[in-house]
Amino acid sequence: MKSLNVNFKDLKSDQSCLKILPLEFVNKYNCIIYCNYDNGKVVLVNDNFDYYNLNKLSFFIKEELYICYVHHEDWIELTKNLKINDDRNQAINKFQINSNIISQSSLNENNKVFYNAEIESSPIVKIVDSIIEEAINYKSSDIHFEPYESYVKVRLRIDGKLFDKSPLPFETFSELSTRIKVLANLDITKKFIPQDGKMIFSYEGKDYDIRVSILPCAYGERIALRILDLHNNILRLNDLNFSNKAMENINRILGFSSGLVLVVGPTGSGKSTTLHAFLEKNLERNENIITVEDPVEYTIEGITQVQINEEAGLDFATCLRTILRQDPNIIMIGEIRDLETAKIACRSSITGHLVYSTLHTNTSVGVINRLKDMNIEPYLLVDALRAIISQRLVRCLCNRCKKKVKINSYEAKALDVDEDIYIYKPVGCGYCNNTGYSGRCGVYEVIILDEDFRKLITENSTSAKFWNLIKKKKIERIFDNGKLLVLNGITSLEEIQSVLN
Ligand SMILES: [Zn+2]
Repeated sequence: MKSLNVNFKDLKSDQSCLKILPLEFVNKYNCIIYCNYDNGKVVLVNDNFDYYNLNKLSFFIKEELYICYVHHEDWIELTKNLKINDDRNQAINKFQINSNIISQSSLNENNKVFYNAEIESSPIVKIVDSIIEEAINYKSSDIHFEPYESYVKVRLRIDGKLFDKSPLPFETFSELSTRIKVLANLDITKKFIPQDGKMIFSYEGKDYDIRVSILPCAYGERIALRILDLHNNILRLNDLNFSNKAMENINRILGFSSGLVLVVGPTGSGKSTTLHAFLEKNLERNENIITVEDPVEYTIEGITQVQINEEAGLDFATCLRTILRQDPNIIMIGEIRDLETAKIACRSSITGHLVYSTLHTNTSVGVINRLKDMNIEPYLLVDALRAIISQRLVRCLCNRCKKKVKINSYEAKALDVDEDIYIYKPVGCGYCNNTGYSGRCGVYEVIILDEDFRKLITENSTSAKFWNLIKKKKIERIFDNGKLLVLNGITSLEEIQSVLN
């Protein structure tokens, strides 16, 4: 920390700096991160700033701090004019003053929505926009609005976990719901039926595809938005951080000309990301690739992607039968949910197609039991199934704030390493929403089924025998893979344990 003896009026505020501290923090601790300076940042403080609170600032910035003092009168003027993350609060205040703009002016006699300048600048539009923008800034996958008796809960899902944001007053809910329905082309006159739609949201020059789901509930409607970033989210194989050993097996799988390859794990474990990376790599083969998905989450040029639509009778099985008449080499089935789909997947994989799909099981060995439970005959399974990839997503430590510590004896035991090594722990800073984590990466277990595995399937063996075989063959287990990430400082032991238990 250094003090900076200049008049703050000679400095130019920087919007990206102003966004670092939440408004509540600014008001509570009387400090503002104002601009970049030298190799650090300028922090404006007033008379009420307590230097004991400096360490709280270090959670938000690791760089050098230059403290610049601002007189009380200037401070009031300054905070009034600065845009410190407070657009939303202003909009909420305004909302309470003229809250009926949309409901009165947005409907004409046919209940058709028309836009006018008044609506586009109305408080509810600012509230909705600012929440979606905040979600995008935090790289959230979902936004939830849940109305209760006196307020609307707002939550963002970031790296797989839900975080509460400041709630909205209950009075905003009806307009909020209308605004979102307008954006998603839904029927704003219907309040008691579930509705699904989508919208394109433009922000900082990029388009985001947002799925909207509306579900009636006790105090109104539960609104969930899923943000799909169509252009950025296709991860290349190299981004998925497979270990060297896993990568060797993945390369073999990508070279298969036929067979069934299943990716398994619970919901939200990144299964479809993995498959899309496979397909993207398989483009090199110049073959006919068709997918059937629900929903199509990432679009890949050069691949025909079919969206299933059960209401219109286009379920996985029906789509697949049609796809098979389109002469595909590689087929990707979003998910195997029923016997019919499982059968088609197995049969097409033994008739010269490479078939990728996902299955909702927790372990790699669970796949075999699951398919048998679906009544797939062992002889079909033996011929079809060629590889299983089991995976989970773990949160990566935030590189700006992670802390290096010497391992303790419990951790050394859990990781099966010596006690003189160092690992990293989460801390929390302004860049990672104070969670200590930022972004996620996969942990994997890749099994290619050879003659020994096929023998066990034919013999209808127990799961224990499969696990023994995996051990005997020294196949890298999912925890082994996670361990590597901990030892490389990519994630923490706590995170691996909580995800893998
Ligand atoms: Zn951090």
